[in-house]
Amino acid sequence: MTKTSEIISTAYREKRKSLLEPEAKTICQEYNIPVTKVKLAKNIDQALKFAHEIGYPIVMKIVSPDIIHKSDIDGVILNLTTQAATIEAFNAIINNVRKHKPKARIIGVLIQEMAPSSTEVIVGAIKDNQFGPTIMFGLGGIFVEILEDVAFRVAPITKRDAENMITEIKAYPVLKGYRNQPAVDTKAIADIIFNTSRLITDHQEIKELDLNPIMAYENGAKTVDARIILE
Ligand code: ADP
Ligand code: MG
Repeated sequence: MTKTSEIISTAYREKRKSLLEPEAKTICQEYNIPVTKVKLAKNIDQALKFAHEIGYPIVMKIVSPDIIHKSDIDGVILNLTTQAATIEAFNAIINNVRKHKPKARIIGVLIQEMAPSSTEVIVGAIKDNQFGPTIMFGLGGIFVEILEDVAFRVAPITKRDAENMITEIKAYPVLKGYRNQPAVDTKAIADIIFNTSRLITDHQEIKELDLNPIMAYENGAKTVDARIILE
């Protein structure tokens, strides 16, 4: 059985419809979608050990099946550079959850590498009632949320379709580079779109998928947050 199938059956067995971020990222890795290094810490000792293994600066995030939008409850703390800051952030995250969502089950705190900030892009998928698995691409922030500048395709798609999705959004010039802003690696983004299409085609149990955001670089790209909701 593949890791992806195992993670999905475990979630169903535990009656969970939303996968945890480390689960979603393991699935991404199986489909060659680049993600940040992550390790799940159950306590402060593990948090310090994993922070050391991954290397500072790190990011810490709440892992809970009951919390889908982690930053809404102050469950994400970025750019931690010392052991003292790691200890403080671990306690702060647990306290923030207790305060904002006292009933939420806490699985642990995810320690991850801090990806350098860059142009943020989004790859999403939904299972459309009429068309089945459908894939979406756009730029992060206001581009998708306010301007609704997105490209859609029904999966499965080809590599060429993935490339076309990138060039057809209005914000494409942002990716191509302007003034002294370098172009981003659109090939790496196209690979992520294509591999996401393979994933949602293979696993029709997936109702929604959100790689939001993906940091796009001059060379390569990295998914810093991944969310998968099952049927
Ligand atoms: P949410 O569940 O609220 O969507 P995210 O995991 O997306 O939480 O984190 C919120 C924001 O923090 C992201 O949009 C991104 O800008 C930043 N972020 C999250 N993880 C990382 C990371 N590993 N490296 C750099 N920035 C990150
Ligand atoms: Mg996010």
